[in-house]
Amino acid sequence: MPAPDRSKFHSELLRWYEENKREMPWRRTRDPYRIWISEILLQQTRVDTVRARYESFLERFPTVRHLAEARIAEVLLAWQGLGYYGRARNLHRAARLITQQYSGEIPQDPVTLQRLPGIGLYTARAIASIAFGKDVAVLDGNVMRVLCRVFRLQGDPRTTAARSRLQALADELLPKGKASTFNQAMMELGALVCRPARPLCSDCPLSPVCQAFRKKQVHAFPKKTPRKPSPTRLRVVAAVFHRSRILFVHRPPEGLLGGLWELPGLYVNGGDTQDGFEKLKEMLRKVATLEAVSTREPFSVDHVYTHFREHLQVISCRGRPVASSCAMRQAEPFFQWIHPTQLSHFALTGASRKILGQVLS
Ligand code: SF4
Repeated sequence: MPAPDRSKFHSELLRWYEENKREMPWRRTRDPYRIWISEILLQQTRVDTVRARYESFLERFPTVRHLAEARIAEVLLAWQGLGYYGRARNLHRAARLITQQYSGEIPQDPVTLQRLPGIGLYTARAIASIAFGKDVAVLDGNVMRVLCRVFRLQGDPRTTAARSRLQALADELLPKGKASTFNQAMMELGALVCRPARPLCSDCPLSPVCQAFRKKQVHAFPKKTPRKPSPTRLRVVAAVFHRSRILFVHRPPEGLLGGLWELPGLYVNGGDTQDGFEKLKEMLRKVATLEAVSTREPFSVDHVYTHFREHLQVISCRGRPVASSCAMRQAEPFFQWIHPTQLSHFALTGASRKILGQVLS
């Protein structure tokens, strides 16, 4: 980009940002802990949702030490409904590392930040620039879209090669000493004006320098190669009741939805739901020593994850102790009978909450 354009780019963008930026609680602070929490919350979660949950999370865990000293179950409970629970587990791990290795001080250097769980290139640079004023440029979906359009960049930004070019361009554009404002202005412009669909080019401060706008090719950027449709997995699930309580399973601590509670279920290969229900009942008989007796017709629930969809076939059952056992055991530590009034004390998977919404209504 020629030098005069670049100076116009900066001055128009920063002026626009000062006049149009939205009021956000995390924009009122330079506290690195609060900025870190906001950045993790904002990953894959809508701004309005984050705004509603940010203060309550910080009231519950006001400092990195409070977060480090909490049990993971408490953190997952506070995270309930926000999805992508790996973020909560990583936050907790990172808080412990920060207290153990950095005396409770969040590192300033983006390379050091990136060594912490859950902090990738974008988040490290966001914390380093916004909280500590480091001269590093961020690249999120909004920034990529703005750059692809302004510079008419070829290449799908989801590819590594295009992303490296975009990062180099963002670094080159960054005005020294203004990283915090510049980064936030680029992200805000992408969110409010240079939107994926229906960008507001006539209100855009960058329209005088935007090459896609000048050539009337705005909708051709960013370039996108078609994605494969995400697969659908079939799962049978049982909502088992006994003495007004419901049976839940604790998922293993690592991996997808790690540490959350869910209704017992099994994936079904080959699409034979009936066979799946039989296997599920057999599993409940063996592991939870109960006979699951269906009380209504199966019903279905769909749930979407990042890389796949789940089609859930659900049976509602009454649980009866099997003849050989005097009482259904709480035996396996990963099983728990929970009364509906106590559910708010447990972090549940989104799919289980959806099913309960139907079963308990
Ligand atoms: Fe985006 Fe339009 Fe602004 Fe170009 S002029 S940066 S396409 S909003």
